[in-house]
Amino acid sequence: MGNRCRPEVSKGPAHFCQKGRVPSRALAWSLALIGMVVGLSARGVQAEPGGLIYINTNFAHASPLYWETKPDGAVHIYLAYDQERASPNRANGHWFFQLQAAPGAELTLVLHNFDNVWNGKPGSPLDDRTIGFASVDGKSWRVFRAETTPDNCLKFTVTVRAGSLYLARLEPYGLSDLEALKAEIRAHGDVAITNIGRTVEGRELEIIRIGRPDAPNRVLLRGRAHPWEPGGNWVIQGLIRRLLRGDAKTQRYLDIYCVYIMPIANKDGVARGRTRFNMLGADLNRKWDRPPDPNTNPENHALETWLQAMIDKGQTPDLMIDLHNDNGGKLHISRPGIDLETYLAKMREFETALRKYTWFTEGSTTASFRNPGSIGEGLLDRFGINACVLELNANWIAGLNDYPSAQNWELFGAQLGEALYHYFKATADER
Ligand SMILES: [Zn+2]
Repeated sequence: MGNRCRPEVSKGPAHFCQKGRVPSRALAWSLALIGMVVGLSARGVQAEPGGLIYINTNFAHASPLYWETKPDGAVHIYLAYDQERASPNRANGHWFFQLQAAPGAELTLVLHNFDNVWNGKPGSPLDDRTIGFASVDGKSWRVFRAETTPDNCLKFTVTVRAGSLYLARLEPYGLSDLEALKAEIRAHGDVAITNIGRTVEGRELEIIRIGRPDAPNRVLLRGRAHPWEPGGNWVIQGLIRRLLRGDAKTQRYLDIYCVYIMPIANKDGVARGRTRFNMLGADLNRKWDRPPDPNTNPENHALETWLQAMIDKGQTPDLMIDLHNDNGGKLHISRPGIDLETYLAKMREFETALRKYTWFTEGSTTASFRNPGSIGEGLLDRFGINACVLELNANWIAGLNDYPSAQNWELFGAQLGEALYHYFKATADER
């Protein structure tokens, strides 16, 4: 064996014996030193000069990353891109982690890897208004401004007063939040929750029905095709709670429409803290111009199978809204090369109702806008459904003159209940 490491002899960590057997006195000193360091760390002395001890990503919805602290004390964090299969597209935009640091440490963070590729072209999720959210307990969040650097990084400074601090791009909405909501509403007489399939990793996908199936109008909502975009989930939660309030207005709403909701389409991506694609690299808001591949895209396959069954029993949704986040906040109306007159009239009514009954002011896409393969265009083109993508501005809500907090998105959801009522009233004669 010569000088090779023999743990059964040295009884020390393997790296002590890389240059041969460690003399017993040196080993004793080494162990004593390690004991001191461990003891000091346990009493809160930091491992790094700036005060950082660790970046914790060992929880659901945390983003994959690695980091290094530079000589100036700035902590550089490198996010892992999501990649799309058979495509140059890649995406970052979600970040969610917990800083563990000496109490009172002031840390400058520089987040890297926002050089995205979107629809085959270079793109970035950052702009000069990009914000982030901080929370000590992971429940109540405060907003902060961040700076975009010339090399497309995101830079900000935070103080870790209590020894740990959660940081996230937007107020997180995870799978446990959805489970809590389901538990809250499950027993209500106007609620039905149906499992319609499973994700790549086997998580159950559900459709939540709010209202009565024999209502004259049906609306389908989808949230979270893209995991970094939690806005839709807060909207859905606000809408569901509004519709189940049981007051006179709610009764009027549910007399004329019934809502079907796929709340979190990309459950695996949410659980694993990814940005855009499913765990086999499928974009759940692309390739809706054809039936989804059940092997690589079971999430969309489950939704289309459910949709086809609804169509087969004469219950085709009259309106479909896919909820997203971006830096613009517009209603996306895609215009494939078909007769669009009826569709565009409906979309005008929908936009009017949004402007009148919610805080929405951002408007809709121009006449030349197309986003081929998006669910809005695909469901219109293939099934004749009045479908659209509603982006929610991830930096600013102009109609409220406020940041996009979870509370403001829940308010939009509650207002959407009213907007849908007036939309269906206004379009009743056109059906
Ligand atoms: Zn999106």
